[in-house]
Amino acid sequence: MNPKIVRFITQENPSTPCLIVDVDEVENRYRLLQKLLPKGRIYYAVKANPAMAVLKRLVKLGACFDAASWEEIALCLKAGAQPNSISFGNTIKKVSAIRKAYEAGVRLFAFDCREELEKLAQNAPGSLVYCRLLVDGYKAEWPLSRKFGTTVESAHDLMCEARVLGLDPYGLSFHVGSQQLSVEAYEVAIARVASLFEELKTEGLNMRMVNLGGGFPVCYAEDVPDIDDFTKAISNTISRYFREEWPEILLEPGRFIVGEAGVVYTEAVLVSARGARNGTRWVYLDIGRFGGLAETENESIRYAILSWRYLESDLCQSDFGGKEELALGSVVLAGPTCDGADILYEKTHYTLPLDLVSGDTLVILGAGAYVSTYCSTCFNGFRPLDEYYI
Ligand SMILES: *Cc1c(COP(=O)(O)O)cnc(C)c1O
Repeated sequence: MNPKIVRFITQENPSTPCLIVDVDEVENRYRLLQKLLPKGRIYYAVKANPAMAVLKRLVKLGACFDAASWEEIALCLKAGAQPNSISFGNTIKKVSAIRKAYEAGVRLFAFDCREELEKLAQNAPGSLVYCRLLVDGYKAEWPLSRKFGTTVESAHDLMCEARVLGLDPYGLSFHVGSQQLSVEAYEVAIARVASLFEELKTEGLNMRMVNLGGGFPVCYAEDVPDIDDFTKAISNTISRYFREEWPEILLEPGRFIVGEAGVVYTEAVLVSARGARNGTRWVYLDIGRFGGLAETENESIRYAILSWRYLESDLCQSDFGGKEELALGSVVLAGPTCDGADILYEKTHYTLPLDLVSGDTLVILGAGAYVSTYCSTCFNGFRPLDEYYI
């Protein structure tokens, strides 16, 4: 576990539930991805974690930003980002948001249908636009794709139409689904984009940009392929189809940049078998589906969850993971609210120490992305989790 976060918990003993993010680790992740794909321009997907400390650090590193709403754009500007470093990447935009973005100087917009294209032509004239292609969320643990993107045929027509409407048909995008475990997903999508580039060339349209979206996985309870497996496959595929003439490459990582930089510190509110003899132990945490762990829906994202007491004593003995006398037993994990859907893991096999009792604290690893903003405002009166950026 991240030593800086361990030190923070030990010294500050923060009240739970809270999210603690090591901003230096965010920087490391950004630098690593930039190093592995030097020709790519990184547009951090703000929705993964829009904390000012994260945005400011990324501005300092020269990052660009993928924003989904006027509010996210405003946050980026407040953090010091230049308007020309921001992409309005949501294919579903209010007219008022398009206008505000355009007035603020944003000139890069996504779309996937004629209606949106017409909204852009009217309210963001002359802007660079890119069309999002539909790809299936094959092997993504948190797929997104049914809702966004269009077919190759329709993208072809829409890009021609964009030029007629006075917009600048800049390129194409896709998103292979979040927490994507297969490098093949990128290879297939790039091939599709490349053939459309060729077709549009015969129409006299010279596309300049490919936006690879996000999707790079982070390590939760199970292993995932290394990031350089992805960047190598991507580089090779682009070179295969575009040879020396690489288009501009945009990346929109969210989870990969912040996921492993953060930890949720939580308390077991109750540990109980509720009368069932030899029954399953239920562990109710003070954070659940409505407290920010929304991605546990369908048990899609399976966080590594550890007892702090054991982790701490292990760390002191400096033989992390090697504590032999540790007796573990199966548990079902749930949140603290009065909603029956507020169960984290029932089918997935989780174990925690047999002597875990109410009041013990735990850590949820890899929680830097998609937690703080998914937290409901006050369901059942529980206030949103505290956040620390260290
Ligand atoms: C959510 C999102 C991202 C980030 O995806 P990750 O899987 O977190 O990397 C990137 N681009 C778009 C358009 C998104 O909606």
